[in-house]
This record gives sequence, C-alpha cells and structure tokens, in this order.
Amino acid sequence: MSAKPGTLWHPCTQMKDHEDFPVIRVARGQGIYLFDEGGKRYLDAVSSWWVNLFGHANPRIASAIARQAQILEQVILAGFSHAPAEELAERLTALAPAGLEHVFYADNGSSAVEVALKMAHGFFRNQGRAGKFRFTYLDNGYHGETLGALAVCGEDLYSEQFGAIMPQGNLRVAGPDCFRCPLGLAREGCDAPCFQAMGETLERHANEIAAVIVEPLLQCAGGFRIYPPAYLRRLRQATREAGVLLILDEIATGFGRTGTLFACEQAGISPDLMCVSKGVTGGFLPLSAVLATDEIYAAFYADWAERKAFLHSHSYTGNPLACAAALETLAIFRDEDVIARNRPKAALLAELVRERFGGHPNVGEVRSLGFVTAVELVADRATKAPLPAANRTGLHISRAGFKRGLLWRNLGDILYFMPPYVITEEEIDRLTRDARAALGEVLPEGEAR
Ligand code: PMP
Repeated sequence: MSAKPGTLWHPCTQMKDHEDFPVIRVARGQGIYLFDEGGKRYLDAVSSWWVNLFGHANPRIASAIARQAQILEQVILAGFSHAPAEELAERLTALAPAGLEHVFYADNGSSAVEVALKMAHGFFRNQGRAGKFRFTYLDNGYHGETLGALAVCGEDLYSEQFGAIMPQGNLRVAGPDCFRCPLGLAREGCDAPCFQAMGETLERHANEIAAVIVEPLLQCAGGFRIYPPAYLRRLRQATREAGVLLILDEIATGFGRTGTLFACEQAGISPDLMCVSKGVTGGFLPLSAVLATDEIYAAFYADWAERKAFLHSHSYTGNPLACAAALETLAIFRDEDVIARNRPKAALLAELVRERFGGHPNVGEVRSLGFVTAVELVADRATKAPLPAANRTGLHISRAGFKRGLLWRNLGDILYFMPPYVITEEEIDRLTRDARAALGEVLPEGEAR
C-alpha cells in the first residue's frame, strides 16, 4: 500500500516535482544495488547520501546489530554507560589524528556540528573569555541544516530562506575555488596563496573568534570542490597563532572517502575538534561523534558548582545498536585492508569518468579525490560559465540515469560518483558507461548550450 501523495514529506525536495516524476519506492537492498517494488535494480552511485561503505544489507554489520539488539538496544548515556559506546570511543581515538582523546556522541552530522560549536565557545567561556563567540567558515562550506550548523554554511541555497531566524555574527571568508581560481593557479602542488583572506580575518578578529570550521580537502554539498592540503596546513598554523580552535568536519570525508581514513591525514594536521558521522556505521544507523583534545576536555572538568559541565544531550546519544554497527564497520576496515584495496578501484573510477566525460563540450572539469569523482557541467568550457540554473540540467541527467538503473543524484549541475567501496571493476565500468549515456541523452554532443 502507498500513502496518499504528500503524506510523506520528503527531505530537500520540492514536492510538486513529483507530480510528473513519482518517487521511487525501494523495497530492498543488497550490496551496491537497491531494488524498487517492481523488482527494477538500481546501482547506488551516491552511497545513499554518502553513508554506505560496504553494501546494503551487509551481512557482517546486519548480524552485529541483530546480536546487539538482543542484548541491549538503548540506555540513557548520562550516568550510565555500555560496552559498545566505550569500545567505540577507544577505537575512534586510536584511529583519529594525534591529540584527539575524548569522544562525545550525538546522532547525526548536524548535531555533531552543533556540539563542536558549543564546545568551542564553552572552552573559552569556561576560561573567562565569553567574548570568543564567533565562528569563521568558508564560502561553499556545508555543515548541516540545523540552525547553528546552517549559520556556518557558506552555501546560500540552504540558508537563504532562514536568515531571519539564524544565529548572527559569524564570519564568512572567501575560500579556495580551484576550478575558477581568481589567482589563475592550478590546484596540483598549489601553496594556497588564497589563504590570505582567512589569515587576515583571523588576525583582525582573533579576540572574538572561537573556532574556524571547514571540511578538509573536499567541500561536498557546496559543489564537490577539491582544494590542496597546503590550505589546511596554513589554517592549522594560523589558528594556533591566533589562539582560535580548528574544527574539522569529516562527516562526509571520513572513513576512507578521500583515500585516507580521515582527509586531514593528507595534510598531516590534527584539529582541536573533529566531527564524524555518515560512514561511521557503514550506513546502517544514525550516529555521530565529536572528538576533542585533552585541553578542551579539561576546560569543562571542574566542581559542579563552577557550572562548567558540557550540558548537551540527545535521547539516543551513543545508541548501542549504532555503536555495534560502527564497531563492526571499523572491524571490516581492519580485516579487509580497505584503504589499500580501495586505491585501484578509486583510480579506475577517476580514469573512466575522465575518459568518458572529459571530452564532452559541456564538461568543465572532472575532479577526483579518493573514492569521489565529480563532473562539473558548464555552458562554455572556455569561460567556465555555468549552465542556466532554470534548465535544471543536472536533475534531468540524474533522471535519465534512473531509467538506466542508476540511483544517482545531481548537485545542481554537478554530477558525482560516490559508490559504496564494494563496487567491482566491472560495475565501475557499467556505472560510468550508463552515466555517460544519461548525459548524452540530455546534452547530446554537437549541441552544446
Ligand atoms: N557536514 C557535512 C560535511 C555533510 O556532508 C553533512 C551531510 N551531508 C553534514 C555535515 C550534516 O549531516 P546530517 O545530514 O547527518 O545532519
């Protein structure tokens, strides 16, 4: 039975779009495939919003959750604890960049960002510096859609309607824009002179800024923009010098997406606070965590009367089922040498997309980092002018992909490939072939617009 149209209100969707293009009802999943109720198979090219790592209905993770469900499904995490939450905290701190020794759980990416922002301000407030309440963020950065997180998003699409109710006072800074670099530089080997804007903001407002928040190396929802590690190294140094905390949002980039377990490893830096979510449970259950340094933890550790405790909670904080899924996910990373085994597959994905899409007159750039490859469509390759947004070209291409059995989702006029890591080389071949056919259907070559 299906619900009356509109009873289920879908996220990030103009519901009217579905008058002429019904939503696809998924009945089951297996490996990289999802099957609709008519039995049609879709290859999950976007890992179901970037969460799935080892396939749908992965037997190891499914069994771990089932085992845990028969032992302990949920318990309040204030005043009580449980083995999966503690073991996971130990595992995460062991795997994380140096210096991150404490784990605070929440249950989705946006909530983790809220936690990190509150911790950053609380760190200073607890030391008598309540004037450090502003956050600095980058153009095209994305950190979630709850109000606090939205107030550090540099992508107006998500925030423009909510200006009136958003926290004010944060500082937005022009960030790296390597595809349309205003300095005319190339991404590879770049020393990131564009850091200057951030450097100046930090110097000018050091007394008011609690933290800078960025997505390391890859801004996902803001357009799959890849920037060089040098930017992060400069940021780490400049935040230290300014006495400002650095929050890395590894929610999308973490757990192998960019080719290393965490993207910041590629820059050789450690943040003060790190947010993780999405892939942490292999894409099975909602869970997020904020990892913090000793110094930050210590700033909240005091006699109750000092009112320094970090007062933040969610009902499902550290849910045992989600923690069990995460422990099994991390066990798969260890047992199957995932990071090393992903390398040739990620390289093949990048190569085939480049080969098949690169020559199309409307493809401005094909860019890759680890297991993510994105194609930016333009009206004109020479000027890099975007396609008219009203045409919704990307949407039509992803719909053409649905017909060919791809579960695909454009980001404006950016097409991207972010499949589960268990995809095979043959499946990468098929994915890129079908995707290219979908592009050709909507933008036939020789008819560049
Ligand atoms: N930060 C980043 C970098 C993200 O990509 C996302 C989700 N796309 C979030 C935060 C928010 O996570 P959630 O959707 O789980 O709230």
